[in-house]
Amino acid sequence: MTRDTTPAALPTASVEDLQKLLPSVRHVLWDLDGPICRLFAVHSAPGIAKELLHVIHKAARVGNLEVPVLPKRSLDDPHAMLVAISHSWPGTEQVVELEQWLTAQELIAADSALMTSHVEPLIHRWGGSLGVPFAVSTNNSGQAAAKFLATAELDAFFPYVCGRTSDLSLMKPHPHTLLVALAALRADPSLALMIGDAPTDYRAAKRAGVAFLGYADTSDKVAKFRRAGVRSSRIVTSLKEIWAALDSQE
Ligand SMILES: [Mg+2]
Repeated sequence: MTRDTTPAALPTASVEDLQKLLPSVRHVLWDLDGPICRLFAVHSAPGIAKELLHVIHKAARVGNLEVPVLPKRSLDDPHAMLVAISHSWPGTEQVVELEQWLTAQELIAADSALMTSHVEPLIHRWGGSLGVPFAVSTNNSGQAAAKFLATAELDAFFPYVCGRTSDLSLMKPHPHTLLVALAALRADPSLALMIGDAPTDYRAAKRAGVAFLGYADTSDKVAKFRRAGVRSSRIVTSLKEIWAALDSQE
């Protein structure tokens, strides 16, 4: 099952922009949720966040900890909620347990995640026929990412999956998962490309010295990228555009 995309109103990359960018790319680092799949398409992020809030209150009672005032935006976003809690309860076993709880939820979500439109032929063309090595760099659990890729029969293209660790300060925009992926691939950062759907992916790529291509399937995401400083020539609204540019250069 795939997801339809909505064309963006703001200018984005032309075929020529992509034809200039792609030939020098020797390694690709993929964000998972967005460019490869919608991880929380069915097992929803707001639903998980709601449940996480209960788990946090329970952990606070057990550990005699105070629940901080959580940022409003985190109430729909389990990652943001977990990061906020890790700032208030640094180095505690409760944070380690909450991260493990979130991993379990992401493993459930992986079973019902929806593959992003056009990602399958793109991966087969780029990673298969053209032989460009890939890795995943994600703020989600690496186990959940690996589970989704195996279910989708795309795991052979991703020998390295670099996901969240119990140290939540290493999540993107920190470049940690990109640096681990680059080292595993023995990749020169200046010849690598990160594909992501959030400004945090862009900032992490910049810090790792890796070129960035933003995937924005809504006009809102295009606008967010532009505000973060991503050039319009480095934003695509569909993965089909990358596929077409690779096709035209063969
Ligand atoms: Mg993402």
